[in-house]
Amino acid sequence: MLINNKEIALYVHWPYCLKKCPYCDFNSHVTRQPIDINVWETAYKNEIEAEQNILGKKTVRSIFFGGGTPSLMPPKLLESILNQVSKKWAFSKNIEITLEANPSSVEIKNFSTLKKVGVNRLSLGFQSLNNNSLKFLGRNHSVKNGLKALETAKNIFKRVSFDLIYGLPDHNEKMWEKELNEAIQISGEHISAYQLTIEKGTPFYASYRDKKFELPPEKTLLNLYNMTDELLSQAHLKKYEVSNYAFKNSECVHNYKIWEGSEYCGIGPGAHGRLILDNKWYASHKFSAPKIWLNKNLKKKSSLYLNKEISNIERAQEILLTSLRLTKGIDIKEAFNKLSINSNNDILNENELRKFKELNLIDETDSLLKVTNKGFPILNYITNNLIL
Ligand code: SF4
Repeated sequence: MLINNKEIALYVHWPYCLKKCPYCDFNSHVTRQPIDINVWETAYKNEIEAEQNILGKKTVRSIFFGGGTPSLMPPKLLESILNQVSKKWAFSKNIEITLEANPSSVEIKNFSTLKKVGVNRLSLGFQSLNNNSLKFLGRNHSVKNGLKALETAKNIFKRVSFDLIYGLPDHNEKMWEKELNEAIQISGEHISAYQLTIEKGTPFYASYRDKKFELPPEKTLLNLYNMTDELLSQAHLKKYEVSNYAFKNSECVHNYKIWEGSEYCGIGPGAHGRLILDNKWYASHKFSAPKIWLNKNLKKKSSLYLNKEISNIERAQEILLTSLRLTKGIDIKEAFNKLSINSNNDILNENELRKFKELNLIDETDSLLKVTNKGFPILNYITNNLIL
């Protein structure tokens, strides 16, 4: 039997940025046309109401404003969205409300107001503590801007995280060690460290294909990953997900819930969700292009591009995929039982599992599956081969 958990995680997407970074394949856009905030406010409110009509009573455990650059939203708009959510659903007592922000001066100015309207966790797109790396990544800010933004954020919010990107063309162990040590000195409770990936359709994809730059060799990338684990863990920032590190009990609740396989609802252009309706799982997806999303929403009060039932087997495969990102792993018996699945046969390849266990890439104790430290650097390879 599915258990309809009354708690829900809410994701709100703001699709605009000041500049498109050359490595970014997110649903983010730069617009020269003025953005009519009143119209956007109406659209977000419509969508929250439409979702509430479908989902009924819920308690919101977390809200995550992502993008794009949601810290560019006028705080009044963010406040209005939060008001609408609180009118439609109950807030959990310890609700986590995260906002992604970039270190521009416009955004820093708004931090205090954002806290007043309810944001209680800030995730800063710092990306690098090296000006040459920031330039290569096409970022709008300098290290100085980043440090200022981080200091301001830490003075205002109790919970602050920042992102770093490693595996840049000139990165070697010495450079990354220096950067990590500097990051530890200034960090709060949480750091996300992502390896640069070259995504199709981005300017970096074309430059890399045309050999305008090269990435460090595999061996170096492996060393950088292991060094990240080691240095952050010495600073009590323990890895809890393949690219996320936090002090104890300071993990990002929102992302954790989603990786564990909880129900979540997406609001805004391109947002997707996994929802339980009449005891069945549904995948929902909103129109991605901001103008189309807005037009559909204002005309029909719904911007749903897709709302399709997914089988329990498909959902089990998804949950296995995301849970294996977590260092705590997944109790497959418990997780699959919740979905009324009694056998692993349709979910995972037992031969591959045996092989990965022999190679010490996966650990299985009773029904608890965990990727090992040796396995994490090749997590995608493992899940591609393991999950049917
Ligand atoms: S600021 Fe973030 S979302 Fe916007 S283009 Fe850069 S990486 Fe993408």
